[in-house]
Amino acid sequence: MIDLDSLKEKLAQPCKIIITTHHKPDGDAMGSSLGLYSYFIQKGHDVKVISPTDYPHFLHWLPHNNEVIIYTEKEAESKQLVADADFIFCLDFNALSRINELGEEVRKSTAIKVMIDHHLEPEGFEDFRHWNTKACATAQLIYDFIVYHLNDGDLINKDVATCLYTGIMTDSGSFRFPTVTSDLHRIVANLIDAGAVNWKIHQQVYDNATESRLKFLGFCLSSRLQVFREYNTALITVSKEDIKQFDIQTGETEGVVNYALSINGIKLAAFIIERSDKVKLSLRSVGDFPANEVCKKYFNGGGHKNASGGQSDEPFETVIEKFKSILPEYKHLLLQ
Ligand code: 5GP
Ligand code: MN
Repeated sequence: MIDLDSLKEKLAQPCKIIITTHHKPDGDAMGSSLGLYSYFIQKGHDVKVISPTDYPHFLHWLPHNNEVIIYTEKEAESKQLVADADFIFCLDFNALSRINELGEEVRKSTAIKVMIDHHLEPEGFEDFRHWNTKACATAQLIYDFIVYHLNDGDLINKDVATCLYTGIMTDSGSFRFPTVTSDLHRIVANLIDAGAVNWKIHQQVYDNATESRLKFLGFCLSSRLQVFREYNTALITVSKEDIKQFDIQTGETEGVVNYALSINGIKLAAFIIERSDKVKLSLRSVGDFPANEVCKKYFNGGGHKNASGGQSDEPFETVIEKFKSILPEYKHLLLQ
């Protein structure tokens, strides 16, 4: 472990910095990574962003997106960069398994590891942490880190602000979750003042769907939605064949689960999808229902109380049945 003063002292010289985030990164993961990137390059550091995997095209417009290295496309180069780094910033995750094979490289590295995150139960691989589960987004913690820890509020330029706004907007469901506070709105106001064009960011992220994505969404809602009123639960299931039929790409299933949660009275929404190598499950809940506990206990996963995920190597139909079979155990919470 190192303290903030030592961290600042080490960062006072030009350093080799790697920024990485969880696999299949979302808006908060990429917004935080590229926001921190745009800050560090102003300080004269040699900075590289490495994503464990690819990510949705609706994030490819982010400033400096062209600089991102995808581990699965450039393994040897990524390993070398991690081995040579002075610092590795690990954003929006707190267990090395969340960055796949890259996790072992990070574990082996002698670099100073800094974790900035808002997920529960950190594994503890890092040397320094800025961790707060109350934060609505990791991007909010990056803002804190730059402004309050490093006293560089005047370096929140248009690029930094644009990236951090994107992270906060996507992880807060466009400023609607209970994690959104008046303090968060003040940060967001500062980001707009610093150059983030709020309406344009919203448009680039949310009004950027392909025609196939919209047709796929219609199909999910009309043909793949089941509602279990006795458990206030809604489920959408998507098979390999469905994905093929609609030619669905990375990220295009994002947000489908929220439509299930938007049904009147629904407390728990699930989205189960048969990927080529495994079955992936996403849960969303309202109020006190602990979606993360369900994912941890039954689906090798975790996450936040109201938004969590997991996976299984079992057949698609088995996972669907397993999900339905655990509902009685949670009936008392679902009917509250
Ligand atoms: P999503 O449903 O969008 O894939 O994930 C929602 C949230 O659940 C993510 O922000 C992440 O915190 C968590 N999550 C998703 N998949 C996993 C997983 O496999 N393991 C863990 N620990 N958390 C996950
Ligand atoms: Mn996040």
